[in-house]
Amino acid sequence: MDLWVTEYQTPSLGFSCRITETLKVEQTQFQHLAVVETEQFGKMLLLDGMVMTTDADEYVYHEMITMIALNSHPHPQKVLIIGGGDGGALREAVNHPLVEKCTLVEIDDRVIEASRQYFPQLSCSFTDPKAVVVVEDGIKFVRERKNEFDIIIVDSTEPVGPAVALFSADFYQECFAALKDDGMLVVQSESPFFNADVIKSAYKGIKQSFPITKLYLASIPTYPSGLWSFTIGSKKHDPEKPINKKDLNLKYYNESIHLSCFKLPNFVSNIIKED
Ligand code: SAM
Repeated sequence: MDLWVTEYQTPSLGFSCRITETLKVEQTQFQHLAVVETEQFGKMLLLDGMVMTTDADEYVYHEMITMIALNSHPHPQKVLIIGGGDGGALREAVNHPLVEKCTLVEIDDRVIEASRQYFPQLSCSFTDPKAVVVVEDGIKFVRERKNEFDIIIVDSTEPVGPAVALFSADFYQECFAALKDDGMLVVQSESPFFNADVIKSAYKGIKQSFPITKLYLASIPTYPSGLWSFTIGSKKHDPEKPINKKDLNLKYYNESIHLSCFKLPNFVSNIIKED
């Protein structure tokens, strides 16, 4: 039988992969969760029909959402990840030599469980001595913390369901308060081709609180349009400067990528230009 999975990336565009097996389909308390085996990308995790991660290209997203902040902050000892229940960002954070403790706050324990079962390369750090895994709403968790973290990483789903408030200026303000005096916030901010509105509002919202706000890009084949953005807010340190130069032996990130990912095509610079 010829089986395919399709993510409707826009109302007029579908991204389809031939699948060899459906491994899990479940309605959790928060979202529809599926794990399938694809021919092209290996195992794929989908939430509410949207591709979250795949075996073949997960490294780009997970290295890029973590390493820019981890390598431009002089002492990234205490890290907080909101979302990221697959464990990929946690794996990168705990492997960084300067990180002492990384807390992951995921709202849906079924995502953590699915990753444990089907994505050993992502979930391998849940039991790391530097890792603390909390199942709770990230918004509530951040609201109750003050002046505690060097870096906060928001590895969220698209701005639907429980993730809507993770894209609000109020939440960024609460992240600012939960960070130490020289802290940094990184959020995934979607595709510049298809989600200019999300980028605009994330950038504007972060800029309201953080004196330094920048956007950077990475190529991720299974995400809508293949070009993905991240927005970073910093209280003090320039995120464009890679100051921790240890060779981390990664697959996508290196010093040249760190320097070049902030160079934006004109149409992307225009998205974040002041009105
Ligand atoms: N890399 C992904 C992407 O951009 O497609 C994100 C993957 S990660 C699995 C996103 C996670 O954020 C999901 O597991 C979801 O349950 C979690 N999440 C959504 N809203 C949340 C909230 N308010 N607090 C904590 N976690 C949340």
